[in-house]
Amino acid sequence: AASPTRSYAITLLPGDGIGPEVISVAKNVLLLAGAIEGIEFNFHEMPVGGAALDLTGVPLPGETLSAAQQSDAVLLGAIGGYKWDNNEKHLKPETGLLQLREGLKVFANLRPATVLPQLVDASTLKKEVAEGVDLMVVRELTGGIYFGKPRGFSTNQNGEEIGLNTEVYSISEIDRIARVAFETARKRRGKLCSVDKANVLEASMLWRKRVMAIALEYPDVELTHMYVDNAAMQLVRNPKQFDTIVTNNIFGDILSDEASMITGSIGMLPSASLGEKGPGLFEPIHGSAPDIAGQDKANPLATVLSAAMLLKYGLGEADAAERIEAAVLHTLDRGFRTGDIYSDGNKLVGCKEMGEEVLKAVDLNV
Ligand code: ATP
Ligand code: MG
Repeated sequence: AASPTRSYAITLLPGDGIGPEVISVAKNVLLLAGAIEGIEFNFHEMPVGGAALDLTGVPLPGETLSAAQQSDAVLLGAIGGYKWDNNEKHLKPETGLLQLREGLKVFANLRPATVLPQLVDASTLKKEVAEGVDLMVVRELTGGIYFGKPRGFSTNQNGEEIGLNTEVYSISEIDRIARVAFETARKRRGKLCSVDKANVLEASMLWRKRVMAIALEYPDVELTHMYVDNAAMQLVRNPKQFDTIVTNNIFGDILSDEASMITGSIGMLPSASLGEKGPGLFEPIHGSAPDIAGQDKANPLATVLSAAMLLKYGLGEADAAERIEAAVLHTLDRGFRTGDIYSDGNKLVGCKEMGEEVLKAVDLNV
């Protein structure tokens, strides 16, 4: 049934390295899936990272940020590369990403780790353990020890130099990330595990207390708690036990990287960063991969799946998102593989050809 056309403004930030190659594929996939589902996209492409440094002298030009803020969602490729590693002005491309997150006020970072049946051999874990893993880490992104004050270098009572950082969380910061996590779990299998260190840290004690309080609003979601040291173990021992995990900034940083290695396919993993209102930021978890940039070797699927997250979590367009996810699975089923996920018996393709195969699959599912 044809529903009226919905129209969205999308800011595309290709960035550096393989960023432009993978964004180009994701853009075409969004256009086609959108056309089939009655969605119209207005794309605005803006410079960010090293590309913006070269062009304007700063990694996040004001025009890029305001375009992003005024759009319905932002799709980012990747930022950084050797070229800018030792630049004399001390302006790093990566600063642009931090400023972008800050400017969009995205406090919730969603990182799925899914072991696809077609890629189970890529996992760093034994097949029996890896098979069927499908979890989501919801990481608090703008609070905690990475931002807490006081911080810095000083001296202690003995005159010895110390480095100081502070883990701080307020009730409002915990409540809002908890709600995102419960909503996420509700859209998945209805299980949420909150990870903390409430046996030692006051910030974690408050975290656990507030997560339990917010749980009363979500009686349909099954809530459990786990200490972070145990969670790190359980992730490699039996990752299938997890559906949605919610945790603070630093624990989430570590656990989401651990979870991504379970899948073993950095070129396949998307992410979403969401705020209270306003546009979300969607990007592959991989970096700019300067070693393969410009060679048509990049795996575009992490960015294509980020576009699917954009539709689902950013625009509420679940049908179009599922169409794209199904197309990715279908393309893998047909044996197409970029170098990073290649194994014997499959068809080795480049970034562009992988994109074309996904487009065919999107079309096929009409
Ligand atoms: P950053 O600091 O930006 O995260 P990094 O050096 O930590 O960068 P990546 O840029 O993600 O990590 O690259 C790590 C390795 O994975 C590189 O060898 C790169 O070629 C490979 N890689 C990353 N993304 C992809 C992709 N989409 N397709 C194929 N290979 C990739
Ligand atoms: Mg990295």
